[in-house]
Amino acid sequence: MARIGVLALQGAFAAHVEKLVALGADVVEVRRAEHLIGLEGLVLPGGESTTMSNLLVSSGLEHPLRAAIDSGLAVFGTCAGMILLSAHILDGRDDQISFAAIDATVRRNAYGRQVDSFECDLDVASLDGPFHAIFIRAPAIERLGSGVEVLASWNGRPVLIRSARVMAASFHPELTSDSRVHRLFLDLVESQLAVR
Ligand code: GLN
Repeated sequence: MARIGVLALQGAFAAHVEKLVALGADVVEVRRAEHLIGLEGLVLPGGESTTMSNLLVSSGLEHPLRAAIDSGLAVFGTCAGMILLSAHILDGRDDQISFAAIDATVRRNAYGRQVDSFECDLDVASLDGPFHAIFIRAPAIERLGSGVEVLASWNGRPVLIRSARVMAASFHPELTSDSRVHRLFLDLVESQLAVR
């Protein structure tokens, strides 16, 4: 049973916790540095990346979390969580946190100018059948480094990406009853444990 943290400072963390528990993970809500001890994976949820940045600083979690990520912890960022994990953030606040865990450039609220929220069915690599995706003021991925794999695209843009130990989604996979994208993350955590 993998020990998976869910950053629980703000946003849609409860739905991630529920989904990971249902998949059999040993789940820890991460609010303070000591909650990082012993984790094998960590989910950074959707919400508001600027607010999450403020709370990471005020809770004292920013530096220990950065150290954990830099030392190889497997991480999955959804929506605002993807923004926090990306190397470059466009239309962000100057002082917002980037953990630079995945070589991607993302633009905040990029889909929000046309429609605030929308849903669509995605073809996701290695999954049988479409995955219903919910986008809420979602960030768009505008550039990827060469080591980053695209698992799903929508309208010609990547929306689900993966590198050796990082997954990131523009959408909210925790808000539907489908657990397959979370299963992919647990598979990535297991593959990382095998090489660590
Ligand atoms: N627009 C939010 C941000 O910039 C992300 C939206 C979300 O997580 N649903 O942080």
